Amino acid sequence: MARTVLVTGGNRGIGLAIAQAFAKQGDRVAVTHRGGGVPGAGAAEPGSGAGGAGHQGGLFGVRCDVTDPDSVDAAFTTVEAELGPVEVLVANAGITDDTLLMRMSEEQFTRVLDTNLTGAFRCAKRASTKMLRARWGRMIFISSVVGLYGGPGQVNYAASKAGLVGVARSITRELGSRNITANVVAPGYVETDMTAALPEDRKTEYRKVIPAGRFAQPDEVAAAVTWLAGDGAGYISGAVIPVDGGLGMGH
Ligand code: NDP
Repeated sequence: MARTVLVTGGNRGIGLAIAQAFAKQGDRVAVTHRGGGVPGAGAAEPGSGAGGAGHQGGLFGVRCDVTDPDSVDAAFTTVEAELGPVEVLVANAGITDDTLLMRMSEEQFTRVLDTNLTGAFRCAKRASTKMLRARWGRMIFISSVVGLYGGPGQVNYAASKAGLVGVARSITRELGSRNITANVVAPGYVETDMTAALPEDRKTEYRKVIPAGRFAQPDEVAAAVTWLAGDGAGYISGAVIPVDGGLGMGH
């Protein structure tokens, strides 16, 4: 059965791979962007683009900054008008701003939390109303192996990603009886712009400690997300699904 899916930060990287995987299986898919459209999705269709919204490469792009509650609300309203109520939410938008604890400013900590954790809360809250009405919904939060494993220089990022586990598990306890599931996908290192910024010697070091011996491709994360959103995963909720080549085993 085709569903309406919203992927935040779906204009590139892991989010775009997730969006394309849903579109490939026939779902109606919206992705958020912050003004640049959806570069990897192909050409915009004629007439698209009004107010930052439009169809592009089989995806419906909508402008949204997850740090702004009004922007989140407006994006959902636009998607609802175009594709129907959001049945599957993938909270994927995220940033890093790494530095050692002693050097991390309050602003650096708060900004990462506001995007990665509070941004996901804003989207989940907005999505929940319609999911409750429909008595069906899937929320998938893109966390990171770093959330439970920790990472030097990543106090802000790890805190935000660990927080998503509490969010998903609390939503599970609140809404589980209404056929709404909330799960976390925790990728290890994935080949995207985010990891392209890492120095090559650091990447070599990371590969040595990853049992799989390599970074993941974005579509390997997407496969776990589409599976969690499917009818076959209806009894899985509050779970943390690692997609990390074995890096975080036991965490
Ligand atoms: P990218 O840096 O490639 O993409 C990040 C996405 O998030 C972009 O679409 C970006 O939009 C969007 N975004 C950032 N801030 C906001 C905001 N305030 N409002 C709306 N959208 C925003 O990252 P990845 O694809 O690598 O990562 C996607 C998710 O996966 C993130 O949550 C990340 O933490 C997580 N992850 C990534 C891993 C990796 O190794 N790459 C490993 C584990 C987890 P814009 O294009 O406008 O900047």
